[in-house]
Amino acid sequence: MSKRFLLRDALAEFPPYVPGKPPVASPGLTPFKLSSNENHLPPLPGIVESVATASATPGNYPDPTAAALVADIASHLDVEPAEVVPGAGASEVLTALTNITLEAGTSVVYPWPSFEMYPILASARGAQKRPVDLLADGRHDFAGLAAAIDDTTRLVLLCSPNNPTGPTITDAELEGFLAEVPESVIVVLDEAYLEFATEAADGLAARKRHPNLVLARTFSKAHGLAGLRVGYGIADVEIASAMRQVIAPFSVTAGAQAAARESLSRVDEVAVRAKEIAAVRDRFAHDLRELGLSVPDAQGNYVWIALDPEAAVAFEGECAKQAVAVRRLQGGVRVSIGPDEALERVLKVAASL
Ligand SMILES: *Cc1c(COP(=O)(O)O)cnc(C)c1O
Repeated sequence: MSKRFLLRDALAEFPPYVPGKPPVASPGLTPFKLSSNENHLPPLPGIVESVATASATPGNYPDPTAAALVADIASHLDVEPAEVVPGAGASEVLTALTNITLEAGTSVVYPWPSFEMYPILASARGAQKRPVDLLADGRHDFAGLAAAIDDTTRLVLLCSPNNPTGPTITDAELEGFLAEVPESVIVVLDEAYLEFATEAADGLAARKRHPNLVLARTFSKAHGLAGLRVGYGIADVEIASAMRQVIAPFSVTAGAQAAARESLSRVDEVAVRAKEIAAVRDRFAHDLRELGLSVPDAQGNYVWIALDPEAAVAFEGECAKQAVAVRRLQGGVRVSIGPDEALERVLKVAASL
């Protein structure tokens, strides 16, 4: 590549973020995108209207502090508003956490495979990346994670349910791990898919004992607002105020703030729909296992099929022929829960291979 501008050399080593592919059209087949863990259900009543109303004066900036949304989240979770940090998706919350902790000479510890943003954010900060392989069943290796921490470690990222493999972290695992981490090291529990989980560690309770624990949550998945970009962190006030220092003002639009508030006011309906998706997921995972495939415990709105590289390419290719986009990653294929028709096609592909 030509070097016309004074860019950082490190950019050449950034792992790429590969977004989920759109489905390829196939004659006579409705295309389905099962590659980005999007919520396939239609928006809840009132959501689209709330966005429209809040966006009626697009010439005005939104409330920079998102005060009304912060108050709603705080009362919903029984935390202080000062502990709530809204952002343009949990992605921005994670970015803020890496921005306030990482720089050259520091390290970040995280499970792998996990959310693809983790190594990208670490690279962006010039920090040393310490991915720790998951156990064979797709769960976090807490002994390995603890062993990877040293004096240079400023941040640990945990993901429950883990994207892409599916299992959650238990209360005992989280508590045991936090007891081993120095209290000055920030531990992030990424709970992007928490609402779909049948059983998962109670991060809110653990925070009371461990102020270094930060929760990252989003309206993108269970609330189905991925396109609007809104999420939040729950953090000790000292961490929270540092995060606000690095998040661009006005990053959560007025429409996103309004939709998130409307969705929170219907959180019972959100929970019911998340349970419906979870029930479909459980049946789908069961059917895949019946076919002899290796599917770890699935607790998000997706299922992980462990495959060797050749089989994964074939699986993705056959799904594409059926106009279904799935996500091939290191070690297998991730299939987001979508409409029955889409999942039936994936099951047919699985049966044929
Ligand atoms: C989707 C996802 C997020 C955040 O997504 P946003 O749309 O930025 O809120 C965070 N963590 C994991 C593991 C995810 O899969």
